[in-house]
Order: sequence, then structure tokens, then C-alpha cells
Amino acid sequence: MYENLVSEAFEAMKSAYAPYSNYHVGACVLCRDGRTFRGVNIENASYGATNCAERSAVFGAYSYGYRKADIAALAIVSDGARIGTPCGICRQVLSELLESDTPIILSNGKETMETTMAELLPMSFGMEDLA
Ligand SMILES: [Zn+2]
Repeated sequence: MYENLVSEAFEAMKSAYAPYSNYHVGACVLCRDGRTFRGVNIENASYGATNCAERSAVFGAYSYGYRKADIAALAIVSDGARIGTPCGICRQVLSELLESDTPIILSNGKETMETTMAELLPMSFGMEDLA
């Protein structure tokens, strides 16, 4: 399942801008209406200004008015030796911008696994804590 989404994420990965780490990441959001939004990691000489692929993709979907209920799945792929999982910043962001049970497919081309934000960031801090 989600082979096409994973393929599109690998296609996106070709556009990653990673001259410092040489670690290329691609992501693709699948919306319930079938629309997809790609993202790649975009590094910067001031490393902290780097943006990760999965945030780029989800921000793209949100920029077109899609919200968490509209997102069916997210694929995140990399060319690392092992499957790349979202960094801490992305986990915090994705915990707010995705449903906790939205399928997240991770792949490095050799291995693929499916997870969710509930698994990636249990006991997360979110909007409900500020109510
Ligand atoms: Zn990240």
C-alpha cells in the first residue's frame, strides 16, 4: 500500500538541497482528494535555518488550505543506510498538523515501515494543553 506515494517521495528526493550533510530526504503528502504535495530537505549555511522534507511537504499542503482531516498519508524517504525517522522538531510539528493515526510511511529504498504520530511522539504537548 502507498507504493505510488513512496515513489513520488523518492522522485521528490532528487530535488533535495543538501550540500552540507549530503543526506537527501524526500516527502510526499497524500490528501484525501488525491492531491499530493512534495517536500525535500533544504539546508542552509546557518544549519539551524534548514528545513526538513516532511515539514516542507506538510507546509505545502497547509498553504493550499488542506488541514489534518484532509491528509490521508505521508511518505518520508531518504538515502540513508537505515530508515530515516522524523527529527524532534518535525515530530512536534507533525503532531499538531497530522491526525495521530495518519499513516506515515518511512523508507530508505531497502526497508519500508509504516507508523503514526501516536507512535513517533507519545505523550505529546499540543494545543489541548493550552486550552
Ligand atoms: Zn525534521
